[in-house]
Amino acid sequence: MTFEINMRCISCKKQAEIKITQAFCSECFLRHYQRRVEKMIKKFKLIHKNDKVLVAVSGGKDSFSCADVLWQLGFDISVLHIDVGVKQCTSPRTKRVVEKFCKERKIPFYFTSFEEFFEIDDINKFFKVAKRPICATCGMLKRALFNKLARENGFTKIATGHCADDIVKYFFKSMLAGDRDSILWLSKLKPLTPSTHKKIVTRIRPLFEMLEVENLAYTKFRNITVAGCVMCSYFQRKDKWTEILREIDKFIPDWKIKIARTLEKIDIQLREKRKQKEGLKECAICGEITNQEICAICNIKRKI
Ligand code: AMP
Ligand code: ZN
Repeated sequence: MTFEINMRCISCKKQAEIKITQAFCSECFLRHYQRRVEKMIKKFKLIHKNDKVLVAVSGGKDSFSCADVLWQLGFDISVLHIDVGVKQCTSPRTKRVVEKFCKERKIPFYFTSFEEFFEIDDINKFFKVAKRPICATCGMLKRALFNKLARENGFTKIATGHCADDIVKYFFKSMLAGDRDSILWLSKLKPLTPSTHKKIVTRIRPLFEMLEVENLAYTKFRNITVAGCVMCSYFQRKDKWTEILREIDKFIPDWKIKIARTLEKIDIQLREKRKQKEGLKECAICGEITNQEICAICNIKRKI
């Protein structure tokens, strides 16, 4: 991505301000971005007229872009920000930044924390007893919370800021792991994950075909203050995946969009997965949906 370039905008021929896949001035870039998300929503019927959408916003560029573009397109949205109890990820500052974003647009703002919502006395203990990587435990709690809060407040869709970069990274990790279960998850990597139970709210990913750098440019041109996780910041990240994928970007700038489009068409429906779907039950303790007698969260809580 280049911000200062000596080119003309391919749309209006004014001085271009950015080139990711094509050169655009900021106005044409924003219009083009919004139009692509709008097309995505129509193509996969992500949002209907009467839908009430809860957008999960971490404070980073992706989820802010998602909330802003849905708001610009005139959908009925509210925003949820969760304090995850890890100070590099969320803090009183991220809360303030998200709250201000909502206030400026008159978007209803919901805020909660893991401790508050799941009535866990000691969240650190919970993470320790869970015996999984922090991100996996955090992800499990976040997904459960998005669903519970959305359902209890009458939302019909949950939108997250997942973009083509997330999808492609997950795709590569699953493929390299060669583990059948994680490959099965690939069929969940779709712009829309429909509800399979009355207690599960449908999930949508309107930025499925957008690049992380496009979201970064979108927030910059829309003057949105971001307060994302310091550890995951686009410019700070130095993990091997970021390096590998960036190398391919240099040769084929839109390759992630193309892979995301291919993944949209893949449907891995194995017998086991169907069986799993049919076996959904309500957890004997909290009543949330699980394929066991007791859900993973209550199971960890019991061990504390
Ligand atoms: P991650 O699991 O961090 O890759 O985040 C995936 C998506 O979950 C983001 O694009 C957001 O939509 C949502 N999300 C992540 N963290 C939070 C948070 N603290 N509060 C609300 N939504 C979040
Ligand atoms: Zn232009």
